[in-house]
Amino acid sequence: MDNEMTLSFMAVSDNEALARIAITSFLSVLDPTIEELSEIKTVVSEAVTNAIIHGYDENPNGIVTVQASRHGREVTITILDQGIGIENVTQAMEPLYTTKPLLERSGMGFTIMESFTDQLTVQSELGKGTAVTFKK
Ligand code: ATP
Ligand code: MG
Repeated sequence: MDNEMTLSFMAVSDNEALARIAITSFLSVLDPTIEELSEIKTVVSEAVTNAIIHGYDENPNGIVTVQASRHGREVTITILDQGIGIENVTQAMEPLYTTKPLLERSGMGFTIMESFTDQLTVQSELGKGTAVTFKK
């Protein structure tokens, strides 16, 4: 049976665990391997963290949304925010690129996300927000 879900939460880091647990539960019917599941959870975590710390600059009033859909064994997940947006997505996705070096960010989030997914697209508009979508 196909399935879809949407989860929205405040931009606080405690909710990263909530997103991971919701995705784990959503995917459990597919009986994923530990490796598959841990890769998907890592990607969701990286994108949710980005939404909180970059998109909303840690303002808890921001809302982060995780959407997931499943058609057969194909899973599509989108993480979105209505935060500051990204001026240059191509540059932001380059390894080691970060706008928050003082927060001990390594600039590897997008690189990790790309390596763990089959198809990763980032749509962003300055002042409007960011949507990261991937298939697995
Ligand atoms: P790391 O993920 O290694 O801790 P990082 O978050 O800086 O460091 P990436 O996740 O690769 O690295 O993101 C690269 C840059 O893209 C960020 O520094 C930020 O400028 C921008 N960015 C990413 N996600 C968002 C977002 N949701 N809203 C606004 N800017 C973003
Ligand atoms: Mg990051």
